[in-house]
Amino acid sequence: MILLDGKTLSKKIREQIKGRVEEFKNRGIIPGLAVILVGDNPASQLYVNMKTKACEDVGIYSINHRMPAEISEKELINVIKMLNDNPMVHGILVQLPLPKHIKEENVIEAIDYKKDVDGFHPYSVGRLVRGNPLFYPCTPYGIMKLFEEYDIELRGKDVVIVGAGNITGKPLASMLTNAFSTVQLCHIHTKELEKKTKKADIVISAVGKPKLITKDMVKEGCVIVDVGISRVDNRVVGDVDFENVSEKASYITPVPGGVGPMTIAMLLYNTVKAIEINGT
Ligand code: NAD
Repeated sequence: MILLDGKTLSKKIREQIKGRVEEFKNRGIIPGLAVILVGDNPASQLYVNMKTKACEDVGIYSINHRMPAEISEKELINVIKMLNDNPMVHGILVQLPLPKHIKEENVIEAIDYKKDVDGFHPYSVGRLVRGNPLFYPCTPYGIMKLFEEYDIELRGKDVVIVGAGNITGKPLASMLTNAFSTVQLCHIHTKELEKKTKKADIVISAVGKPKLITKDMVKEGCVIVDVGISRVDNRVVGDVDFENVSEKASYITPVPGGVGPMTIAMLLYNTVKAIEINGT
């Protein structure tokens, strides 16, 4: 069994990004990322802090906008419009989830698609599905980078993705389809999940349910990617019963230290890419 070590790969990518940031700075351009956090959800605060710290480490200028949970959708969209027009801001990230009274779709669509470093804007999603990507969403992008780093063949492989969310499952299904994998995208209403995962060459779980994927659900030699994040007894765990599944897997991501650090590295990557897309 080989660990798909996201911690090490993300460090390598961050070093490359640092170099590119230096090059931009030599040309008088400071990469800028605006991060918007609405409310005081502790998990969101933690993610935002991790992202802004990662920006600092590579020399990206991050501007934090922290807003009260009561802010109206209109006010939030006005802030986004201001950031869209600010040439110092190359990327805009709105930390999800948003309070219930705000429609996520309206907020995402308000972001200038050229600054959509999360890759959630319908324009980015459409281009991704068509195989002509602009911004790849960070989590699936990080997973694809892990496959590339470990020379994991995707062409012709049977892949089961468990979890059909907008952040991971759905975009990843398109990316793998574009890489010529045969993808089954499963979710809470999928029948006989185990029958499907058992046949798969690659199983990716993005649900948020500890021990959802067990040893008897996967075949010998399969590749396992665990995206899930849950807290159990103050520990961060994924969806996969790592201890037992790793006995059968050829490659497997640890949690933590697998997909998580890759997600942040790809956000930095997208922010630098946004400079080119914005044409500054
Ligand atoms: P989501 O929360 O939007 O959707 C969850 C999906 O799981 C849905 O499609 C649902 O139908 C499916 N599901 C729920 N219970 C299921 C079950 N018992 N069997 C099969 N499918 C089931 O998805 P998301 O935003 O991608 O988040 C999923 C998990 O990944 C969460 O734990 C989240 O914290 C984590 N996550 C991690 C990273 C990272 O960087 N590591 C990034 C994004 C999300």
